[in-house]
Amino acid sequence: MSTLKAVRGTRDLLPPETALWNRIEATARSVFGRYNFGEIRTPIFEATSLFARGVGEETDIVSKEMYTWEDRARAQSEKPQSLTLRPENTAGVVRAYIEHKLGETGQLQKLYYIGPQFRRERPQKGRYRQFFQVGAEVMGPASAGAESPLRDAEVLEMLSTLLDELGITGWTLHLNSVGSSADRARYNDALREALQPVKEKMCADCQRRAEVNPLRVLDCKVPEDQPIIETLPKIADSLDEESKAHFAAVITALDAAGVPYTRNHRLVRGLDYYTRTTFEFTHGGLGAQNALLGGGRYDGLSEMLGGPRAPGIGFAIGLDRLVLTLQAQEVDKAAVVEKVDAYIAPMGDARNPEQLAAMNAAGLALARELRRAGLSIELGEGSFRLKKSFEAADKTARRIVILGEDELRSGILTVKDFSSGEQTKVPRAELAAFLAS
Ligand code: AMP
Repeated sequence: MSTLKAVRGTRDLLPPETALWNRIEATARSVFGRYNFGEIRTPIFEATSLFARGVGEETDIVSKEMYTWEDRARAQSEKPQSLTLRPENTAGVVRAYIEHKLGETGQLQKLYYIGPQFRRERPQKGRYRQFFQVGAEVMGPASAGAESPLRDAEVLEMLSTLLDELGITGWTLHLNSVGSSADRARYNDALREALQPVKEKMCADCQRRAEVNPLRVLDCKVPEDQPIIETLPKIADSLDEESKAHFAAVITALDAAGVPYTRNHRLVRGLDYYTRTTFEFTHGGLGAQNALLGGGRYDGLSEMLGGPRAPGIGFAIGLDRLVLTLQAQEVDKAAVVEKVDAYIAPMGDARNPEQLAAMNAAGLALARELRRAGLSIELGEGSFRLKKSFEAADKTARRIVILGEDELRSGILTVKDFSSGEQTKVPRAELAAFLAS
């Protein structure tokens, strides 16, 4: 047996599971379309500096998890360039926004993407090294209303609609505001001060974080540290009046729309670019990796990447985790095992190659006719005996159509329905309508 295998942390997606992936992607496209989003496709690799600047050098993603390589120069005039497989898509979208001067349209840009992302993480259930995200960004000049809390609320309302339409039950929206970068700096100072007298009693990671990046202490999962973390100051108390008013307006709009949420003071998220609203949707059925999706506002990101001021808000949904959740809920079982409309069984004579070829050819012609009429068809093989054709058909199709020499001559086909057991003679001209019923 071959020892070649998919690389650790990557996997093949096979039918019938891919039917579920397709259904999720189609639902997302349909929902985004109703909110007037258009699709963007950015390259799968970008200059490493994009992520270093856009995501942040200090983040786990950039410091530990990126697949980076030095691309050799092709010509003497070219310099080798450091390239990276994208670990997330927001930086790429903002780069494209700047490169194509989308801000000069003066309009809000509402863009969504679907595609693979790459992070060198420790693989486990729901965490892979190649995983898939469905995400969207709303950004534009402030004059187009890109900063408005209405945009935050609309994005969250859209997400609740998408999850509901997918049939995901029992999700929780966690909501917080991390304020402006000045608010965050103030909060970092307050945390650092509050941690001084207590950090000795905390885990080694927290002791380090207390010095380097106190905000990260809030992500600590060590049970013994939790009572201490509960006593730390909350970011809500460090927000300036503008950030407070912005967050209050997001909440008022969510309440009016009837979108349920819980305030989570500890939700600060892993990426450096977030400002003001941050959020995560979790699902209890996912175990340790319980985040279905995450996102937030990133008002300074375009400027961080050398672009114009372009406030925005976005999110990324873990497609792999939507699939796991729906599989656990079993809502998609029926769709996954769906059978094709009919199996065409050409009846050939295995000992007579010419006759066999003619019947197989007639089978292909009939299958073409029916498929073009919109039916899903599995085409059998003329050398199979009748019993073998029936067994194969029963596994994949709702009905079997027998195509022997008699049927071909008379134009009257025999159709058997597997669920009712009924056998019917159907004229070829009426076959498509009969099979569609
Ligand atoms: P992030 O870009 O880190 O905010 O992640 C957004 C969403 O992508 C998360 O809520 C997860 O659902 C999903 N995600 C992130 N990293 C992974 C991974 N390594 N494997 C599978 N899904 C992931």
